[in-house]
Amino acid sequence: MEEQLNLAPFGYLVMDTRLRILDTNQTLQDWINLQDTPSHMHDLLTIASRIYFQTYFPPSIKMHGKVNEMYLTLKAGNEKIPILMNAVVRNQQYECVFVQMKERDEYENELLLAKRSAEKIRQDTEDAFKKLQGLMESVEGKQQELLEMNTQLQELVTTDPLTGLKNRRFLNTKLLEYVEIAKIEQSPFSLLLIDVDYFKRVNDTYGHPTGDAVLQELSWKLQSEARDSDIVARMGGEEFIIILPYTNKKEAQVIAERIRLNIDHGNWENTRITVSIGVTTYEINDNANNLISRADEALYQSKKDGRNRVSIC
Ligand code: GH3
Ligand code: MG
Ligand code: MG
Repeated sequence: MEEQLNLAPFGYLVMDTRLRILDTNQTLQDWINLQDTPSHMHDLLTIASRIYFQTYFPPSIKMHGKVNEMYLTLKAGNEKIPILMNAVVRNQQYECVFVQMKERDEYENELLLAKRSAEKIRQDTEDAFKKLQGLMESVEGKQQELLEMNTQLQELVTTDPLTGLKNRRFLNTKLLEYVEIAKIEQSPFSLLLIDVDYFKRVNDTYGHPTGDAVLQELSWKLQSEARDSDIVARMGGEEFIIILPYTNKKEAQVIAERIRLNIDHGNWENTRITVSIGVTTYEINDNANNLISRADEALYQSKKDGRNRVSIC
């Protein structure tokens, strides 16, 4: 073999039509690192390459007289050498040229690895995002629960458990608000302080549970007498208070009288229930405390004058 071909930077191989190797150049022998040239083309190839070669090479070269760019893997001891093979038919023999593809192969592998790791990062990011979304949804849910619980708690803290009316705590807050509004707007508002007459006797005569039922019924009556804007609260025991927004003394007296009469004429089964009422109206420089004191004075007056009546202070 010509020296140039023998040492050329590509492998060169000649085989007969039965794929028996007739000649190889030195370069190819150095690659595969064998002293004796294998006798058959199959002996040069890895198993996968052999199957591929056997399937496509013989029919292709017989049909076209050549094979272009067949991608194969040579065995070289424990190593493998990826190559690109071109072959032509000449003088009833196949002349083949092998070009190593190692670097391109490694480059492709690196690309593949980079692609896989990019895909994994994308997948991880997507998973993390989904997890975050789930967490955010559950935080939102918990926040909503907390808000609802807070509302319920607020309701509990400001509600009288026996009657369901607003309690003294709520009333105190509202009274401060109405004093402020009255100051700013210079508008009147009134208070009714209502106390059940001789309530102790009800308890003593019919028992405490009946007394409770009377307080509940009375609360219901007061609430149904009230306008939407009025605030009805239980001050404690058998004492109630109503804030009448934008209501002057005269109007408050009429409302108080109507309430007193309705209770007196109410159906209380075996007993008679009456209330005494103290009425007062906001005046300039009033604060929550002295408003309550004045309503209390008026209530005391009603008690003193014989009960079941309305007094104004
Ligand atoms: P007055 O006309 O002077 O107001 O007489 P009164 O008997 O209504 O007043 P007093 O303050 O002497 O008695 C109030 C009674 O109300 C005493 C108390 O046991 C009762 N009472 C307070 N809270 C409750 C309650 O929640 N349920 C019941 N059943 N009774 C209560
Ligand atoms: Mg009483
Ligand atoms: Mg009382």
